[in-house]
Amino acid sequence: MPETTPKSYLPAIPLDESEHRIVKIESAILKESFPSLLVIRIHTNTGFIGHGETYYAPHAVSAMLHDWMGRRLLGSDPLAIESHWRFLYERAANFGVRGTELRAISAIDLALWDIFGQVTQQPIYRLLGGPVRNCVPVYNSLANPNYGIRPDGSQGWPGYGVFGKPGPLEDSYNFFNNPEELAHELLESGYTAFKTWAFDKPAHEHGGMRISHDDIERALIPLRRVREAVGNKLEIMIDGHGFFMLPAAIRIAEALEEIKPLWIEDIIKMDSIETLANFREKSPVPISASEMLLSRADFADVLNKRAADYIMVDPTWAGGISECIRIAHMAQAYNVPTTTHDCSGPLTLMAGVHINAAVPGCCFQETARAHIKTIYKDLIDDQPQISNGHMALPTKPGLGVKLNPDFFDPSREGYRSSDVT
Ligand SMILES: [Mg+2]
Repeated sequence: MPETTPKSYLPAIPLDESEHRIVKIESAILKESFPSLLVIRIHTNTGFIGHGETYYAPHAVSAMLHDWMGRRLLGSDPLAIESHWRFLYERAANFGVRGTELRAISAIDLALWDIFGQVTQQPIYRLLGGPVRNCVPVYNSLANPNYGIRPDGSQGWPGYGVFGKPGPLEDSYNFFNNPEELAHELLESGYTAFKTWAFDKPAHEHGGMRISHDDIERALIPLRRVREAVGNKLEIMIDGHGFFMLPAAIRIAEALEEIKPLWIEDIIKMDSIETLANFREKSPVPISASEMLLSRADFADVLNKRAADYIMVDPTWAGGISECIRIAHMAQAYNVPTTTHDCSGPLTLMAGVHINAAVPGCCFQETARAHIKTIYKDLIDDQPQISNGHMALPTKPGLGVKLNPDFFDPSREGYRSSDVT
């Protein structure tokens, strides 16, 4: 039986009157292909299967899901999405709700919205009041097929953006070595924007306490070559992956003024929103913040302190579709556009597309074609359709894609399931 629901969050229709019940929760870890990803399925007694995922520390999230949050979910109404979200959030808030808890809530939230879509036979963006656009603008992050995967296949991020090697879909390598060719090819493929981590190399070599003028000059070389090759036809975003401290970040931002980036992202860590606001005051180029922030409380702080020009949310880190919709609507009240993060899994991308399709204030979905055409292709049953720099809206009910059922094999290392007993 689920834990008692607080009376203030009981929906208008009591939970026990729904015909649908959650009867099983499964999770799997894809050690052989995307080791930091946790994929989940939530089953109902009526035959629906909701799909969800989150990225980073999958064993910890799996434990949170099965040993703790599953007690609330099993036997309860899968369509009472907000009731579950609030209940789980409040229980976790008692000990400071952060990463693992919100990643578990995010994965659950995606799966419940997926079930809701299947029950109603509607794509999720329609249940959220969309569509507000008939396709979603995307940009291409200059990754490679192994981006986000440690060379030894262990869990965790490698620590720095890849610099790549020659080969197919090696966008990162091509940026540093053949930037003119890459820029022309992106334009011919219909992309209008790309994101790169031009300053990861000096951070990797010298740390982020300071950055020398020589390192700045070296980092600017491929960016200048892109501008010389295609002018301003491509928007450029710069990701600093949170490596630099404030003085180095200011020097980077000042140097980037000539490149005219659409935004610079996570040049400093999100430890202090006051410092971020200070950075924004001094930066001559727009600031995006941040996939590293979680839940509406973090983003309310950013908006109230005027610390960012763009908001970036990751739907499977920040609290799922439910919370990211709230964040995007809140940002719109400040006239700050919202963008959605990817590189962290195919359902993260799909969730972001539904959010972009449902909130007018969303302006860009991140994609990595090096992932979509390689790892993602093997994880889901239907491929994202991207042309002319836009992704088509999903047409199938729910999230619009299903995870490969072979992943949910009880003999797989790291597989767990919980049932109604
Ligand atoms: Mg980023």
